[in-house]
Amino acid sequence: MALLETRSLTASYGDFQALFGVDVRLEEGQTVAIIGANGAGKTTLMRSISGVLRNALDQISFDGREIGGLSAPDVVALGVAMVPEGRKLFPSLTVEENLLIGRYGRAVEGFWSLETIYEMFPILKERRNNPGTALSGGQQQMVAIGRALMSNPRVLLCDELSLGLAPVVIKDIYAAFPKIKASGASIIIVEQDIGQALKVADQVYCMMEGRITLSGKPSEISREQIHAAYFGAH
Ligand code: ATP
Repeated sequence: MALLETRSLTASYGDFQALFGVDVRLEEGQTVAIIGANGAGKTTLMRSISGVLRNALDQISFDGREIGGLSAPDVVALGVAMVPEGRKLFPSLTVEENLLIGRYGRAVEGFWSLETIYEMFPILKERRNNPGTALSGGQQQMVAIGRALMSNPRVLLCDELSLGLAPVVIKDIYAAFPKIKASGASIIIVEQDIGQALKVADQVYCMMEGRITLSGKPSEISREQIHAAYFGAH
């Protein structure tokens, strides 16, 4: 049984349907990458899983129970945490306070604590008393990842970590992934940087216009297949 699974997942914004029957499986310990062009529905998929969008009754299961229809706080409390697109730090709070916020939703002891997050991202320890917004984009992304990890999630959802960051910073952020994996978390990333996605993922899904158009292990799918699944065959 998959740790987390969507089954024929649909989602709409009012009259506009954004997802048309999306099936994604995340096995325990795996990293799944969702790739696709702007507007393909990747963020909508993440919002549906995390309970931010609540129109997915009976379409999402986590650890054997139905979570479609639960609220975002309930989903976090069960152990599914999200690093949202755009980081969404609390501007009036310091780095450390932003990290501690992650504990409120799920105060579960585990590998992740202020100490282990500061060990993984030492720059955050140096800046712990600075307002989150005084940091560079890459450092803010580290805070957003740390905040989600503070709940010691079983599943970490990461939406477009590399958005707006320089390649060298993206590399720094992804350098943390082996450690996050080793902590036991299973991971779903949404990523426009295909190279990065293929590097970290055990399983890749490509989305176009609200549907999965390709899935497989990175070693099994070719660049040509990805191109066709991404932009459509012309
Ligand atoms: P991006 O890389 O731009 O974030 P995406 O693959 O994450 O793209 P979504 O943000 O999930 O795509 O958007 C899927 C579709 O839903 C798009 O056509 C988008 O315009 C539409 N959409 C997204 N959010 C809303 C909203 N709040 N109201 C109406 N339509 C929306």
